[in-house]
Amino acid sequence: MHLRIGPDLCIIMGDISQQIIAKEMNSLMNEKPLSIEERRDGLARMARDGVDVLVIGGGITGAGVALDAAARGYRVGLVEKADFASGTSSKSTKLVHGGIRYLSQFDFALTRESLVERGLLLRNAPFLVQPIGFLLPLYAGAKKPMGTPIRLPFGFGMGYILRAGLILYDMLAGRLGLQPHRRLSKTKLSRMAPCLKTDKLEDAFIYFDGQTDDTRLVMTVLRTAVDQGASIANYAEVTGFEMAGGQIDAVHIADRLGGEGYSIRARKVVNAAGASAGTIEEMAGVSSIRIKPAKGVHLTVARESLKMGKYAMVLPETDDGRLLFLVPWGPRVTIGTTDTEGGDINDATAGPADIEYLLRHVNRYMRCRLEESDIISAWAGYRPLISSRKSSAQSSKLSRTHAVLDGPGGMVSIVGGKLTTYRRMAQDTVDHLVRGWGKKPPKHSITANLALEGTADRELATADLESRSVEYGLEADVIRRLSLYGTELFAILDIMATDAAMRRRIVPDLPYVMAEVVYACRREMVANLDDVLERRVHISFEDRDRGTTVAPAVAEVMAVELGWDAAEVVRQVERYRRRTASDARWSTALSGGKEPERVQIL
Ligand code: FAD
Repeated sequence: MHLRIGPDLCIIMGDISQQIIAKEMNSLMNEKPLSIEERRDGLARMARDGVDVLVIGGGITGAGVALDAAARGYRVGLVEKADFASGTSSKSTKLVHGGIRYLSQFDFALTRESLVERGLLLRNAPFLVQPIGFLLPLYAGAKKPMGTPIRLPFGFGMGYILRAGLILYDMLAGRLGLQPHRRLSKTKLSRMAPCLKTDKLEDAFIYFDGQTDDTRLVMTVLRTAVDQGASIANYAEVTGFEMAGGQIDAVHIADRLGGEGYSIRARKVVNAAGASAGTIEEMAGVSSIRIKPAKGVHLTVARESLKMGKYAMVLPETDDGRLLFLVPWGPRVTIGTTDTEGGDINDATAGPADIEYLLRHVNRYMRCRLEESDIISAWAGYRPLISSRKSSAQSSKLSRTHAVLDGPGGMVSIVGGKLTTYRRMAQDTVDHLVRGWGKKPPKHSITANLALEGTADRELATADLESRSVEYGLEADVIRRLSLYGTELFAILDIMATDAAMRRRIVPDLPYVMAEVVYACRREMVANLDDVLERRVHISFEDRDRGTTVAPAVAEVMAVELGWDAAEVVRQVERYRRRTASDARWSTALSGGKEPERVQIL
């Protein structure tokens, strides 16, 4: 009997029973969820059976849409042209935040929306998002700290304005709030951030937001979508559309691993291609959106370079009226970000001007001087900002951060937004699809209360990890890192149990272990060495030699899992080394050296 899990069945059985069946069917079908075999099977399944919703783009936006649509009982497929999260979604500051600077723009609705989403994510994926304190200093003579456009009369200090803003920030979060902000004395601030300059310090505060691992968040949302019945495939690029009567009838996919081509029929196509959303629309006709790419660069430096403890820091004013974050990340600190218009979205690299800007501002506020030689890595991503859209384009602008637009051929594009607000963006997009099908969206969003995969029983998993930590020689930082997997931790512990070599750190001073490599091959669809070293773990950005020394050892472990021969191991290591070398062009440009050869990355 051919049982179609979809809205038709949903009408007969009701939402809840339909979801349960989809989930059970899916776990029966996927003995190795998110394995490379499942990728191939998923593509074949999508091409054979068609889908209700085909999502283009495997960043956080696409992942969120796939989850929302699958949770409502639709047959969902998602295709990503490279690795999952290889676009902007792995280049964020990794904050799950309300966006304190929106307050100074009096954008209370946007701040409130982001704070609510922050709270929901902390509740629905508690293993993935941790609250973190941000130190906020205010200096005498500041012109527009935090972008504040107003000044108080009679010499009242800016501290009053900032304090009022922070009270509002805490209040807007409502019941989903974190610890309230506090005022800090100069002595306390110096103890918490010994490198921060305190001469001319006028006031100081600490407020709280969330921190996550962006790639792990994307993978977790995708895993939850698959659990709800979605099929997903990375290295599956949309190359064109087949039209019938002006509407998209099928989507052409090029399998960048197998070399085959697929044609997938979809009732509706959702374009979640981030900064490439305009290009996707152009493939189907005339694009209604113009993306204005805005590059954001981050630096990674050692935590001891800035003597940072467990708190993040806000540098309250830059020359161009923005603010900068210094965020602790394991033994490193992430510094960012820049915001410059233009550039090539297919070549997101940091330039000498970006590096100079970040170093100049850090050194303006910090006593411990940062030099170019302190930089471990510099990395860039593009914000998918919308600059304009044709007035003829039908749209439902549902939030200040993002827009859901009707594109050519009946496709729906979701553009803009933030990592933090991905769930709300997805809800708005699928509501838009549902309305287009002449139905009423549900009053209460399913995903608002849907715990992400890994949440249930996560405490059991962490307890299991802690009980084995002495035997396995796992230190506190490794335990913290592995806890980000939630209950997927059980799979990692199984790998560690059968092979002691898998309990070892990949790089001595970073918290990643070899078992994560095996896990990524078996359960997270990795196909290339950089999928592992850049995204499943972040050695590529955090290791002093960018992971080039350990690349052969990691490739050998992957070879066993993915069946690579010796030639493929060599090819993967060479490809990875050329990739990291070309990433470091800013360094050669600063020192007047010759640029390394660019490598075409899939
Ligand atoms: P992407 O992640 O770029 O995903 C789009 C995907 O579409 C890509 O993977 C791409 O390969 C794929 N694609 C393109 N063309 C095709 C095709 N033909 N076929 C198939 N797939 C295709 N937000 C926060 O909430 N907190 C932060 O701390 C934060 N920091 C940021 C810092 C920086 C520097 C930047 C730039 C943004 C930051 N953001 C932050 C915003 C957030 O990162 C982005 O809004 C979000 O990651 C965008 O996700 P996306 O899925 O829309 O785009």
